[in-house]
Amino acid sequence: MNQVKQSDWVARSLQSVWHPCTQMQHHESVPLIPVSHGKGVWLYDADGKRYLDAISSWWVNLFGHANPRINAALKDQLDKLEHAMLAGFTHEPVIALSEALAKKTDQVLGHCFYASDGASAVEIALKMSAHYWRNAGHADKCEFVCLKNSYHGETLGALAVTDVPLFRTAYGSLLQSVHVVMSPDDRAAQEGETGLDVARRAAHELETLLQQRANHIAAVILESLVQCATGMAMHEPLYLELVRALCDKYDVHLIADEIAVGCGRSGTFFACEQANIWPDFLCLSKGISGGYLPLSLVMTHDAIYQAFYHRDLGRGFLHSHSYTGNPLACRAALATLAIFEEDDVLHRNRQRAARLTAALTPLAMHEKVRHFRQRGMIWAFDAVLDAEKAVTFSRRFFSTALEQELLLRPIGNTVYLMPPYILDDAQIDWLAERVRTVFEHVIGQMPTQ
Ligand SMILES: *Cc1c(COP(=O)(O)O)cnc(C)c1O
Repeated sequence: MNQVKQSDWVARSLQSVWHPCTQMQHHESVPLIPVSHGKGVWLYDADGKRYLDAISSWWVNLFGHANPRINAALKDQLDKLEHAMLAGFTHEPVIALSEALAKKTDQVLGHCFYASDGASAVEIALKMSAHYWRNAGHADKCEFVCLKNSYHGETLGALAVTDVPLFRTAYGSLLQSVHVVMSPDDRAAQEGETGLDVARRAAHELETLLQQRANHIAAVILESLVQCATGMAMHEPLYLELVRALCDKYDVHLIADEIAVGCGRSGTFFACEQANIWPDFLCLSKGISGGYLPLSLVMTHDAIYQAFYHRDLGRGFLHSHSYTGNPLACRAALATLAIFEEDDVLHRNRQRAARLTAALTPLAMHEKVRHFRQRGMIWAFDAVLDAEKAVTFSRRFFSTALEQELLLRPIGNTVYLMPPYILDDAQIDWLAERVRTVFEHVIGQMPTQ
């Protein structure tokens, strides 16, 4: 009976649901999993088969599925206020959340602007930066700088500062042109170089651009410490420190996109803390609602806010979404922040990280593994493969992982783990063992030339 039900769901979904960022035809060979429910680190399909959600459902879930504390907060909120517009109105969840986040920056980033998804937060930061310069009498400062292999979302403004060749080919003609500078990716270290040298080299390239063009540049946007979507490219905190100094020197804003790496993912609550800097705009989304509801926000400091504060509407920040600051989403976020405190999560995560890193060491030493890396609650390594085999590898890895009760989706030849912050010791050891089994199986079956 169950078997019938599951295949039924899949057929109906493929008929009517156009799945995101997917070549639908691939589902002729790649499985589509109908999820019936989730609990803790596990997702269950319609047949009752379980999968450990080792990528936190696209990096959003921090404290497991159906988390009792977040559920309770949402049930309470549901009977009070599901939604009210945020123009002309306000409500307790959005106030409390803004205050709690500002406090985490020691009130440096004391103003919070809300939206629903990550890409919108990026658009807000870009618009706010350019509009700031206009209000300050520098309307010609409206260009942006992003890093090679950056990812900031897929709406047109965010896509313009996203350096993904596949997207550029398909949508490049629709996009504003931007400056792309070298990524500080540690893996770019040449013979005799360290990650710190790469960071300095990348900052130097940015400075060369700023020397020539700063009069026209509004902001530099980057993903702090880890460029996730390109395949968990990690860099030294030094890079953030150097970019902050350059932005100050050349009068350009720094936008830190912490949509993926914020909320403890990098090891500190905000990734920027590891470089002892604050950006002019900090974008959060993904984990902020605990993976429950769409919520994003941009935090900024008082000098930016004041440049918009005026009797003239046109000098105000002109941006809104229907669900801006949704009370349910804000309540989920408040419950999520409460768990950080109650469970001393950042501290416990350091122990989890040490254990998982140790458990993955045999795999890190595998002859077909390069660049094993970890930051906070992110692990990644690259399979040694010819570039043209990366797609086959990642699809096979995904399917084989599912057979081994694991949800993992490599990015090309990069296998990564981004698990929820609730793994216990037994789950950590189990996860490491299964990843090794899957890797050895898949790499062993890859054709060699
Ligand atoms: C996911 C992501 C985005 C886009 O967020 P969406 O909610 O998918 O629009 C932007 N920047 C980074 C770094 C991301 O990882």
